[in-house]
Amino acid sequence: VLAVGAIAGTLVGLLLAQSSMRPPGPVDALRIAIRRGELVPYYQPIFELATARIVGCEVLVRWVRRDGELVFPDRFIPIAEASGLIVPMTERLVEQALSELAPLLSGRPEFKTAFNIDPAHFVQQGFLDALDQIVAQTGWPNTRIVLELTERNAFPDMKQAVAVTKEARTRGYRISLDDTGAGHNGLGHIQDLNPDIIKIDKKFVGVAGTVEAADAIIEVLVNLGQRMGAVVVAEGIETEDQRATLAHAGVAQGQGYLISRPVPLARFRTLIRDHELV
Ligand code: C2E
Ligand code: CA
Ligand code: CA
Ligand code: CA
Repeated sequence: VLAVGAIAGTLVGLLLAQSSMRPPGPVDALRIAIRRGELVPYYQPIFELATARIVGCEVLVRWVRRDGELVFPDRFIPIAEASGLIVPMTERLVEQALSELAPLLSGRPEFKTAFNIDPAHFVQQGFLDALDQIVAQTGWPNTRIVLELTERNAFPDMKQAVAVTKEARTRGYRISLDDTGAGHNGLGHIQDLNPDIIKIDKKFVGVAGTVEAADAIIEVLVNLGQRMGAVVVAEGIETEDQRATLAHAGVAQGQGYLISRPVPLARFRTLIRDHELV
Protein backbone atom coordinates (compact mmCIF):
# COMPACT_ATOMS: atom_id res chain seq x y z
CA VAL A 1 0.00 0.00 0.00
CA LEU A 2 2.83 2.31 0.93
CA ALA A 3 4.65 1.56 -2.33
CA VAL A 4 1.55 2.22 -4.42
CA GLY A 5 1.00 5.46 -2.51
CA ALA A 6 4.61 6.49 -3.12
CA ILE A 7 4.37 5.71 -6.83
CA ALA A 8 1.07 7.61 -7.10
CA GLY A 9 2.61 10.50 -5.22
CA THR A 10 5.60 10.56 -7.52
CA LEU A 11 3.32 10.48 -10.54
CA VAL A 12 1.25 13.39 -9.24
CA GLY A 13 4.45 15.24 -8.46
CA LEU A 14 5.79 14.62 -11.94
CA LEU A 15 2.54 15.78 -13.55
CA LEU A 16 2.50 18.93 -11.43
CA ALA A 17 6.11 19.66 -12.20
CA GLN A 18 5.44 19.12 -15.87
CA SER A 19 2.45 21.44 -15.97
CA SER A 20 4.25 24.19 -14.08
CA MET A 21 7.33 23.77 -16.26
CA ARG A 22 5.35 24.10 -19.49
CA PRO A 23 6.12 27.59 -20.72
CA PRO A 24 2.97 29.69 -20.56
CA GLY A 25 1.56 30.19 -24.05
CA PRO A 26 0.04 33.43 -25.30
CA VAL A 27 -3.46 32.37 -24.25
CA ASP A 28 -2.32 31.69 -20.66
CA ALA A 29 -0.45 34.98 -20.56
CA LEU A 30 -3.54 36.83 -21.73
CA ARG A 31 -5.79 35.02 -19.25
CA ILE A 32 -3.47 35.98 -16.39
CA ALA A 33 -3.28 39.57 -17.63
CA ILE A 34 -7.07 39.85 -17.69
CA ARG A 35 -7.27 38.45 -14.16
CA ARG A 36 -4.64 40.91 -12.95
CA GLY A 37 -6.44 43.84 -14.54
CA GLU A 38 -3.60 44.62 -16.97
CA LEU A 39 -6.03 45.21 -19.84
CA VAL A 40 -7.20 48.77 -19.46
CA PRO A 41 -9.43 51.16 -21.36
CA TYR A 42 -7.91 54.04 -23.30
CA TYR A 43 -10.25 56.74 -24.55
CA GLN A 44 -10.31 58.59 -27.83
CA PRO A 45 -12.64 61.60 -28.04
CA ILE A 46 -15.29 61.76 -30.76
CA PHE A 47 -16.02 65.33 -31.77
CA GLU A 48 -18.36 67.37 -33.94
CA LEU A 49 -16.47 68.26 -37.09
CA ALA A 50 -18.01 71.70 -37.41
CA THR A 51 -17.43 72.86 -33.81
CA ALA A 52 -14.75 70.50 -32.38
CA ARG A 53 -17.13 69.91 -29.47
CA ILE A 54 -16.53 66.49 -27.83
CA VAL A 55 -19.70 64.40 -28.01
CA GLY A 56 -18.38 61.05 -26.86
CA CYS A 57 -15.50 58.63 -26.92
CA GLU A 58 -14.40 55.25 -28.22
CA VAL A 59 -12.89 52.78 -25.79
CA LEU A 60 -9.72 51.13 -27.15
CA VAL A 61 -8.10 48.44 -25.07
CA ARG A 62 -4.43 48.52 -24.07
CA TRP A 63 -2.39 45.87 -22.30
CA VAL A 64 -0.22 47.63 -19.76
CA ARG A 65 2.34 45.05 -18.62
CA ARG A 66 3.72 45.16 -15.12
CA ASP A 67 7.04 46.45 -16.44
CA GLY A 68 5.15 49.35 -18.00
CA GLU A 69 5.31 48.08 -21.59
CA LEU A 70 2.25 49.06 -23.62
CA VAL A 71 0.89 46.35 -25.92
CA PHE A 72 -1.47 47.37 -28.75
CA PRO A 73 -4.68 45.46 -29.52
CA ASP A 74 -3.54 44.19 -32.92
CA ARG A 75 -1.16 41.90 -30.99
CA PHE A 76 -3.67 40.29 -28.63
CA ILE A 77 -7.25 40.82 -29.90
CA PRO A 78 -6.86 37.96 -32.44
CA ILE A 79 -5.73 35.67 -29.57
CA ALA A 80 -8.61 36.89 -27.39
CA GLU A 81 -11.11 36.21 -30.18
CA ALA A 82 -9.78 32.76 -31.04
CA SER A 83 -9.63 31.63 -27.40
CA GLY A 84 -12.94 33.07 -26.23
CA LEU A 85 -11.11 35.31 -23.75
CA ILE A 86 -12.67 38.22 -25.65
CA VAL A 87 -15.81 37.69 -23.53
CA PRO A 88 -14.33 38.23 -20.03
CA MET A 89 -11.99 40.87 -21.47
CA THR A 90 -14.85 42.89 -22.95
CA GLU A 91 -17.01 42.52 -19.85
CA ARG A 92 -14.26 43.84 -17.59
CA LEU A 93 -13.46 46.63 -20.01
CA VAL A 94 -17.09 47.79 -20.20
CA GLU A 95 -17.41 47.69 -16.45
CA GLN A 96 -14.19 49.60 -15.81
CA ALA A 97 -14.74 52.20 -18.53
CA LEU A 98 -18.33 52.99 -17.58
CA SER A 99 -17.49 53.10 -13.87
CA GLU A 100 -14.58 55.48 -14.29
CA LEU A 101 -16.44 57.65 -16.81
CA ALA A 102 -19.59 57.87 -14.67
CA PRO A 103 -18.67 61.38 -13.41
CA LEU A 104 -19.04 62.59 -17.01
CA LEU A 105 -22.72 61.63 -17.12
CA SER A 106 -24.13 64.65 -15.36
CA GLY A 107 -24.24 67.89 -17.30
CA ARG A 108 -23.38 66.19 -20.58
CA PRO A 109 -26.65 64.72 -21.85
CA GLU A 110 -25.18 63.91 -25.28
CA PHE A 111 -21.97 62.21 -24.24
CA LYS A 112 -21.86 58.60 -25.48
CA THR A 113 -19.31 55.84 -24.99
CA ALA A 114 -18.54 53.37 -27.79
CA PHE A 115 -17.17 49.84 -27.40
CA ASN A 116 -15.77 47.50 -30.03
CA ILE A 117 -17.67 44.22 -29.93
CA ASP A 118 -16.39 41.07 -31.60
CA PRO A 119 -19.19 39.90 -33.93
CA ALA A 120 -18.86 36.32 -32.65
CA HIS A 121 -19.34 37.61 -29.09
CA PHE A 122 -22.26 39.79 -30.18
CA VAL A 123 -24.27 36.83 -31.48
CA GLN A 124 -23.57 34.65 -28.43
CA GLN A 125 -26.57 33.56 -26.38
CA GLY A 126 -27.08 35.94 -23.45
CA PHE A 127 -24.77 38.70 -24.70
CA LEU A 128 -27.35 41.47 -24.20
CA ASP A 129 -28.52 40.22 -20.81
CA ALA A 130 -24.95 40.21 -19.50
CA LEU A 131 -24.34 43.66 -20.97
CA ASP A 132 -27.57 45.04 -19.45
CA GLN A 133 -26.47 43.83 -16.06
CA ILE A 134 -23.01 45.43 -16.24
CA VAL A 135 -24.32 48.70 -17.67
CA ALA A 136 -27.09 48.99 -15.06
CA GLN A 137 -24.54 48.64 -12.22
CA THR A 138 -22.62 51.65 -13.51
CA GLY A 139 -25.61 53.99 -13.71
CA TRP A 140 -25.30 54.57 -17.46
CA PRO A 141 -28.51 54.53 -19.50
CA ASN A 142 -28.30 52.09 -22.42
CA THR A 143 -29.11 54.95 -24.79
CA ARG A 144 -25.66 56.40 -24.20
CA ILE A 145 -23.81 53.19 -25.11
CA VAL A 146 -22.67 52.55 -28.67
CA LEU A 147 -21.81 49.04 -29.85
CA GLU A 148 -19.32 49.09 -32.73
CA LEU A 149 -19.48 46.07 -35.01
CA THR A 150 -16.70 45.73 -37.51
CA GLU A 151 -17.41 45.05 -41.13
CA ARG A 152 -13.91 43.67 -41.55
CA ASN A 153 -14.74 40.01 -40.89
CA ALA A 154 -17.83 38.21 -42.02
CA PHE A 155 -20.48 37.77 -39.33
CA PRO A 156 -20.54 34.17 -38.11
CA ASP A 157 -24.32 34.17 -38.28
CA MET A 158 -25.92 37.05 -40.15
CA LYS A 159 -29.52 36.11 -39.31
CA GLN A 160 -28.66 36.06 -35.62
CA ALA A 161 -26.71 39.32 -35.96
CA VAL A 162 -29.77 41.04 -37.43
CA ALA A 163 -31.94 39.68 -34.60
CA VAL A 164 -29.51 40.77 -31.86
CA THR A 165 -29.12 44.18 -33.50
CA LYS A 166 -32.87 44.70 -33.43
CA GLU A 167 -33.12 43.57 -29.82
CA ALA A 168 -30.15 45.76 -28.82
CA ARG A 169 -31.84 48.82 -30.32
CA THR A 170 -35.10 47.95 -28.56
CA ARG A 171 -33.12 47.98 -25.33
CA GLY A 172 -31.78 51.42 -26.19
CA TYR A 173 -28.23 50.67 -27.38
CA ARG A 174 -26.90 52.45 -30.45
CA ILE A 175 -25.42 50.27 -33.19
CA SER A 176 -22.42 51.49 -35.14
CA LEU A 177 -21.06 49.86 -38.28
CA ASP A 178 -17.26 50.10 -38.02
CA ASP A 179 -14.76 50.15 -40.89
CA THR A 180 -17.56 50.74 -43.38
CA GLY A 181 -16.43 50.22 -46.95
CA ALA A 182 -13.24 48.42 -45.96
CA GLY A 183 -14.78 44.98 -45.42
CA HIS A 184 -15.58 42.20 -47.83
CA ASN A 185 -19.29 42.69 -47.69
CA GLY A 186 -19.87 45.68 -49.91
CA LEU A 187 -22.69 47.70 -48.47
CA GLY A 188 -24.79 44.70 -47.53
CA HIS A 189 -24.26 45.18 -43.81
CA ILE A 190 -25.76 48.66 -43.92
CA GLN A 191 -28.90 47.24 -45.45
CA ASP A 192 -29.11 44.27 -43.08
CA LEU A 193 -28.16 45.91 -39.78
CA ASN A 194 -29.71 49.35 -40.29
CA PRO A 195 -27.11 50.97 -38.00
CA ASP A 196 -27.58 54.21 -36.05
CA ILE A 197 -24.01 55.18 -36.86
CA ILE A 198 -21.87 54.59 -39.94
CA LYS A 199 -18.12 54.84 -39.35
CA ILE A 200 -16.01 55.67 -42.37
CA ASP A 201 -12.76 53.71 -42.33
CA LYS A 202 -9.51 55.63 -42.02
CA LYS A 203 -8.41 54.13 -45.33
CA PHE A 204 -10.69 56.69 -47.01
CA VAL A 205 -10.31 59.45 -44.43
CA GLY A 206 -6.52 59.44 -44.76
CA VAL A 207 -6.72 60.47 -48.41
CA ALA A 208 -9.86 62.61 -48.25
CA GLY A 209 -9.48 65.62 -50.49
CA THR A 210 -6.62 64.06 -52.43
CA VAL A 211 -7.96 60.84 -53.98
CA GLU A 212 -11.04 61.19 -56.13
CA ALA A 213 -12.37 57.69 -55.40
CA ALA A 214 -12.13 58.22 -51.63
CA ASP A 215 -14.09 61.45 -51.90
CA ALA A 216 -16.73 59.71 -53.99
CA ILE A 217 -17.02 56.88 -51.43
CA ILE A 218 -17.32 59.39 -48.59
CA GLU A 219 -20.05 61.17 -50.52
CA VAL A 220 -21.95 57.91 -50.99
CA LEU A 221 -21.71 57.09 -47.26
CA VAL A 222 -22.90 60.58 -46.26
CA ASN A 223 -25.82 60.14 -48.63
CA LEU A 224 -26.63 56.73 -47.21
CA GLY A 225 -26.47 58.11 -43.69
CA GLN A 226 -28.89 60.89 -44.57
CA ARG A 227 -31.33 58.54 -46.26
CA MET A 228 -31.21 56.08 -43.36
CA GLY A 229 -31.15 58.58 -40.53
CA ALA A 230 -27.71 57.39 -39.40
CA VAL A 231 -24.96 59.62 -37.99
CA VAL A 232 -21.81 59.45 -40.09
CA VAL A 233 -18.49 59.40 -38.20
CA ALA A 234 -15.03 59.56 -39.77
CA GLU A 235 -12.11 57.81 -38.04
CA GLY A 236 -8.42 58.57 -38.38
CA ILE A 237 -8.60 62.35 -38.97
CA GLU A 238 -5.01 63.56 -38.69
CA THR A 239 -4.96 66.95 -40.38
CA GLU A 240 -6.99 70.14 -40.43
CA ASP A 241 -7.36 69.75 -44.20
CA GLN A 242 -8.98 66.36 -43.72
CA ARG A 243 -11.32 67.75 -41.05
CA ALA A 244 -12.38 70.61 -43.33
CA THR A 245 -12.88 68.33 -46.35
CA LEU A 246 -14.99 65.88 -44.37
CA ALA A 247 -17.05 68.62 -42.72
CA HIS A 248 -17.68 70.13 -46.14
CA ALA A 249 -18.74 66.70 -47.45
CA GLY A 250 -21.39 66.58 -44.71
CA VAL A 251 -19.74 64.16 -42.26
CA ALA A 252 -21.09 65.07 -38.82
CA GLN A 253 -18.54 63.64 -36.39
CA GLY A 254 -15.02 62.33 -36.27
CA GLN A 255 -12.07 61.14 -34.28
CA GLY A 256 -8.35 61.14 -34.88
CA TYR A 257 -4.92 62.30 -33.86
CA LEU A 258 -5.87 65.86 -34.93
CA ILE A 259 -7.77 66.17 -31.65
CA SER A 260 -6.18 63.38 -29.62
CA ARG A 261 -4.75 59.89 -29.66
CA PRO A 262 -6.46 57.36 -27.40
CA VAL A 263 -5.38 58.32 -23.86
CA PRO A 264 -5.75 56.90 -20.34
CA LEU A 265 -8.45 58.17 -17.98
CA ALA A 266 -6.52 60.99 -16.27
CA ARG A 267 -5.50 62.54 -19.58
CA PHE A 268 -8.96 62.08 -21.03
CA ARG A 269 -10.51 63.98 -18.12
CA THR A 270 -8.12 66.93 -18.56
CA LEU A 271 -8.80 66.86 -22.28
CA ILE A 272 -12.55 67.13 -21.73
CA ARG A 273 -12.14 69.87 -19.14
CA ASP A 274 -9.82 71.94 -21.32
CA HIS A 275 -12.17 71.54 -24.25
CA GLU A 276 -15.13 72.78 -22.28
CA LEU A 277 -13.21 75.88 -21.25
CA VAL A 278 -12.72 77.05 -24.83
P1 C2E B 1 -10.77 50.33 -34.82
O1 C2E B 1 -11.98 49.97 -34.03
O2 C2E B 1 -10.96 50.63 -36.26
O3 C2E B 1 -10.13 51.54 -34.04
C1 C2E B 1 -9.48 52.63 -34.65
C2 C2E B 1 -7.98 52.49 -34.61
O4 C2E B 1 -7.40 53.63 -35.24
C3 C2E B 1 -7.39 52.48 -33.20
O5 C2E B 1 -6.25 51.65 -33.21
C4 C2E B 1 -7.00 53.93 -33.01
O6 C2E B 1 -6.00 54.11 -32.01
C5 C2E B 1 -6.50 54.27 -34.37
N1 C2E B 1 -6.56 55.70 -34.65
C6 C2E B 1 -7.36 56.63 -34.11
N2 C2E B 1 -7.14 57.84 -34.64
C7 C2E B 1 -6.17 57.67 -35.57
C8 C2E B 1 -5.49 58.57 -36.48
O7 C2E B 1 -5.76 59.76 -36.54
N3 C2E B 1 -4.55 58.02 -37.28
C9 C2E B 1 -4.24 56.70 -37.26
N4 C2E B 1 -3.29 56.25 -38.08
N5 C2E B 1 -4.85 55.82 -36.41
C10 C2E B 1 -5.80 56.31 -35.58
P2 C2E B 1 -5.96 50.65 -31.98
O8 C2E B 1 -6.33 51.33 -30.70
O9 C2E B 1 -4.57 50.16 -32.13
O10 C2E B 1 -6.99 49.49 -32.23
C11 C2E B 1 -6.87 48.67 -33.37
C12 C2E B 1 -8.09 47.79 -33.53
O11 C2E B 1 -8.16 46.83 -32.48
C13 C2E B 1 -9.41 48.55 -33.47
O12 C2E B 1 -9.67 49.15 -34.73
C14 C2E B 1 -10.35 47.44 -33.12
O13 C2E B 1 -10.74 46.72 -34.27
C15 C2E B 1 -9.50 46.56 -32.23
N6 C2E B 1 -9.83 46.84 -30.82
C16 C2E B 1 -9.34 47.80 -30.01
N7 C2E B 1 -9.89 47.74 -28.79
C17 C2E B 1 -10.77 46.71 -28.82
C18 C2E B 1 -11.68 46.11 -27.86
O14 C2E B 1 -11.81 46.55 -26.71
N8 C2E B 1 -12.41 45.04 -28.28
C19 C2E B 1 -12.32 44.55 -29.56
N9 C2E B 1 -13.10 43.49 -29.88
N10 C2E B 1 -11.50 45.07 -30.48
C20 C2E B 1 -10.73 46.15 -30.12
CA1 CA C 1 -13.91 50.89 -33.60
CA1 CA D 1 -12.85 51.56 -37.15
CA1 CA E 1 -10.59 50.96 -39.10
